[in-house]
Amino acid sequence: MSFSFPVAPAVKARLEKLGLCSDADLALHLPLRWEDETRITAIRDLIPGRQAVVQARVAEAEVLYRPRRQLVATVADDSGELIIRFLNFYPSQVQSLKPGRLFRIAGEARGGFFGLEMVHPRCQPVQSDTPLPDSLTPVYPTTAGLAQASLRKLIDKALARLDLAETLPQETYAGMGLPGFAEAVRMLHHPAPDMPLAELEARDHPAFRRLAFDELLAQQFSLRLAREARAQKHATPLKPSGRLMQALLAALPFRLTAAQERAWQEISRDLGDTRPTRRLLQGDVGSGKTVIAALACLQAIEGGMQAAVMAPTEILAEQHFQKLKAWFEPLGIELAWLASALTPAQKKQALARIRSGEALVAVGTHALFQKGVEFHRLGLAIVDEQHRFGVKQRLALSEKGAEPHQLMLSATPIPRTLAMSYFADLDVSTIDELPPGRSPVVTKLVADVRRDEILQRVRAVCIEGGQAYWVCPLIEESEKVDLQTALDTHAMLQAQLPELNVGLVHGRMKPAEKQAVMAAFQAGRIQLLVSTTVIEVGVDVPNASLMIIEHAERFGLSQLHQLRGRVGRGARESVCILLYQNPLSEEARSRLRVIYESNDGFEIARQDLLLRGPGELLGARQSGAPMLRFANPERDRDLLERAARLGPELIGRHPEAVAGHLGRWLGTRAKLAAG
Ligand code: ADP
Ligand code: MG
Repeated sequence: MSFSFPVAPAVKARLEKLGLCSDADLALHLPLRWEDETRITAIRDLIPGRQAVVQARVAEAEVLYRPRRQLVATVADDSGELIIRFLNFYPSQVQSLKPGRLFRIAGEARGGFFGLEMVHPRCQPVQSDTPLPDSLTPVYPTTAGLAQASLRKLIDKALARLDLAETLPQETYAGMGLPGFAEAVRMLHHPAPDMPLAELEARDHPAFRRLAFDELLAQQFSLRLAREARAQKHATPLKPSGRLMQALLAALPFRLTAAQERAWQEISRDLGDTRPTRRLLQGDVGSGKTVIAALACLQAIEGGMQAAVMAPTEILAEQHFQKLKAWFEPLGIELAWLASALTPAQKKQALARIRSGEALVAVGTHALFQKGVEFHRLGLAIVDEQHRFGVKQRLALSEKGAEPHQLMLSATPIPRTLAMSYFADLDVSTIDELPPGRSPVVTKLVADVRRDEILQRVRAVCIEGGQAYWVCPLIEESEKVDLQTALDTHAMLQAQLPELNVGLVHGRMKPAEKQAVMAAFQAGRIQLLVSTTVIEVGVDVPNASLMIIEHAERFGLSQLHQLRGRVGRGARESVCILLYQNPLSEEARSRLRVIYESNDGFEIARQDLLLRGPGELLGARQSGAPMLRFANPERDRDLLERAARLGPELIGRHPEAVAGHLGRWLGTRAKLAAG
C-alpha cells in the first residue's frame, strides 16, 4: 500500500505519522474545520475576533526590535489600514512584503494599540484579478514539519486520482437520504461557500453520516469475517459430567442469580462445541462473574483439559488464585500460581506442574503468556478485565493450545452499541442483575476544603469496626509523582488519625509487599488503606464500607464507577465520597454529575461513550488500530443498527463488493484491526 504519485521520503514519514499511507487514506483524512476565504472583507468592516480575508497593498514594512524582534507591516485598501505582525518570520517574508504589492491576507482581526491588527496572518501575493476560491478552505489535522498548504495539495492530488466509485450495491443506502461516496468526500474537503459551518462542525451533515455509515459497514465486515474464519477452526469440545460443578454449587453459601444462571448456560453451551468459544462475559462490578469463571474451569476439567485464568494485575490475579484455591482444593483439584514475583525455583516448579498436567488450573498475570509456559492440554483460557489486555497478548495465548476456548470477563459494562460495533467478532453474555441483599452505595460530592469533616467520618467508621479506602489520584503520566502523593497522603493520614492502623499500597511496591498489605486489609488488621488506583479492579473486601476518592474530577467515569464498586459489597451501608477541587471544568462537572446520579454501570458506560468516545472503554483492545474515526457508535446508533443488520447479508450476497469496501476503508489498517 502506498501512493500513486511520488512523495518525498521525509514527507512520507510525516504522513505515516498521521496514519496516511495511501491515496485512499489521504482522501479520508477529513478537515478539522473550514475557513471561509471565498469573500473579501473591506478593512473597515473587519470585526475583532472574527476570521476574515482582506485584499490590501503594503504601505510599509519593517523589522522592529522592541519589545522583541518582529516583522510589522501596514497594509491598506480603499476603506482603511491594518497592521500585520509576525513574531517568527523568515528573511523571505521580509523580502516579499514590498511596498505597493497586493496581498490577500487571511486571519483573525483584533484590536491592537495602534488600531486593528492581525498576528501571523496567511499572506498570498495576488493580482487584482486573481480569482477567489469557490469553496471553503479546509484545515486538516497535521503534524510538525508538514505544512497545511502541502497537506492540502497532497490530498487534492489523491482526490483527483482516486476512484471514488461506489463499492457497495445501491440498495445498501436505500431510503437513507445520504449522498453518494464521491459527492460526500468532495463536499467535505471543499464545501460550497453557502454551506452552514455549524452543521459541518457538529459533524451531523448527511455527508458525514454517509462516511460514518460506510465506516461502520467496514467494521462489521471485518469483524464478521474474522468470526466466520474462526468458526472454521476446531477446538476440543468440553463435555461436562457435571460432577465437579455440582459439588462447587452445593458448597457455595449462595445460589446463582437468574442472570448468572442464564449467562452460565450460554457459556457452557459454547464450551461444549467444537467451534472455539470467544465469549465476553460482562456485568456490573459485584455482579458475580468470578463464580461463573470457576464453573467454566470445572467444565474444562470435567472435559479432560486444563484451564488458565489470567488477570491484568498481580493483586487481582492473587485474589483469583486464593478464591479458586478455596473452591477447588476441596474438590481435589490442583492449581498452579504463576506471577513475575516467583523465585526461580518456585517458577520452575510451577512450570513443570503446568507442563505435566498435574496442575489443572493455572492462575497468573501476563506471566502466563510468556515463552516457556507450556500446557499439557490447555482447553480454556479465561482473561479477566479483558479490555486491559492487548490483541497481541490474546493471540499469544491462542498459540498455547491447539485452539483453546476463550472466555473474557469485562468489569466495565459495555453499552449495547459498543458490543455491536467493536465487539462484533465476539459473543456476549450479560449479567444484568446484582446478587440480592446489596445496599446501594451512597455517593457524596464534597469540596476539598471540607477535608476535616471527612477525617472525622473515617475515624468514626473505623472505630466502629468498619474499614475504608483512601484513593489518591493520578497526577500526571508520571508514576513517580503519583507515588510521592500516595506517600505524602499516607504520612498525613497516619499523623491525623493516630488511633487507626493506616496501610499503603501502590503500583511501585514489590508484589510480595503488596500482597502482605492486601492480606492485612482483608483480615481487618489495616483499617484505612491508602492506595493509588491499583485497587481499581476486582478487589473484594466486603467489610470495607467507606471510600474517599481525592481529586475525583481527574478520573474517568468508568474508573470512578469501578473504584466505587469496591465498597457496597457487605451488609454495612456504604458511602463513597468524591472529593473535588474547585474550579471544575464544564466537562468534569458533567462527569461528576453522572456518577453522582447513577449507580448503574451500563448507564455510566453509555454516558462515558457519549462524552469521551470509545477510547477508555476499549482500552488496549484497539490501541493503535482506530477502527472508527468518523462514527461514534452511541451517537450514530441508527447507522450502526442498519450496518449490523446489513453486514452479514452483504457478505453472503456480494463478497467481492465487501472485499472492495474493506480495501478502501481499512487498507493498511486492516491488518492491525483484524485481531
Ligand atoms: P465481579 O463481577 O465484580 O467480579 P465477584 O465475582 O467478585 O464480582 O462477586 C462479588 C461478590 O459477590 C463476591 O463476594 C461473590 O462471592 C459474591 N457473589 C457472587 N454471586 C453471588 C450470588 N449469586 N449471591 C450472593 N453473592 C454472590
Ligand atoms: Mg471480578
